[in-house]
Amino acid sequence: MSPETREATRAEAGGAVEAAATGAGDPVDSAPSPRAPAGGGSDRGATGGVIVEEADLAEQSRLLTEEGAGPLAQAEAVVAWLAARYLPGVVLACGFGVEDCLLVDLLSRVAPAVGVFYLDTQLLFPETYATRDRLVERYGIHPVAVRPRQTVEEQAEALGPALWGRDPDLCCRLRKVEPLTRILSGQRAWITGVRREQGPTRARTPLLEWDRRFGLAKGNPLAAWTARDVWRYVHDQDVPYNPLHDRGYPSLGCWPCTRAVRAGEDPRAGRWSGFAKTECGLHG
Ligand code: SF4
Repeated sequence: MSPETREATRAEAGGAVEAAATGAGDPVDSAPSPRAPAGGGSDRGATGGVIVEEADLAEQSRLLTEEGAGPLAQAEAVVAWLAARYLPGVVLACGFGVEDCLLVDLLSRVAPAVGVFYLDTQLLFPETYATRDRLVERYGIHPVAVRPRQTVEEQAEALGPALWGRDPDLCCRLRKVEPLTRILSGQRAWITGVRREQGPTRARTPLLEWDRRFGLAKGNPLAAWTARDVWRYVHDQDVPYNPLHDRGYPSLGCWPCTRAVRAGEDPRAGRWSGFAKTECGLHG
């Protein structure tokens, strides 16, 4: 695919995602776009359609796993399958961590029409926004910012300051889960950078699954990748990545809830440190 064609495809994809995220142009108050049926016209609104779709995804996930391909070939096969089946309704959830940067690179080769969005909680590290800008420059992507209904200031006025320090579950629900629900309600499949190695809650992540929570297909092309696989790819391909990874942050999120980890700590120990919480509620 020529660079011109790739750019045109990307621009189209960005527009489609933006429309789904923002409706009439307001990322906060828009109504979600109607969702097309998936999988050869099956009606996913009906229970039977969802069951068939779930079974198809499980079977395809099993087949791709049993093929025994290496991590890269497997990830490319997952992305290609999702693109063939669900475009134009496929999006990458990009948090600008190293796995997501890798997926931006991989998508640029395998499925450039897949749209990219990120949950702009308005509490991301400056380095994260800078990483977004480097990816835009390198790959010509058009990542769509999906924002909470309230600004940080409005949330503080309504619920008190620094909600993340008192009730991080509620804060994540307002600033991450609700916006994610909004963007995904206009899509047929989403792609994540989740890896099994990232912790016990992710240890059984399949390559493909039906996401019951959000009601669409979910692809996890990097499920079987190790951290070593990820970093080898990123260095080999010279993929731009978040400099915070080099400062002890294996997992990135909002600045109030993310710290560097110490030697020997779990990679996600720096997230919501001091709380029992280990996930934002986006994955499972
Ligand atoms: S990660 Fe922290 S600041 Fe970000 S939405 Fe969740 S609780 Fe709020």
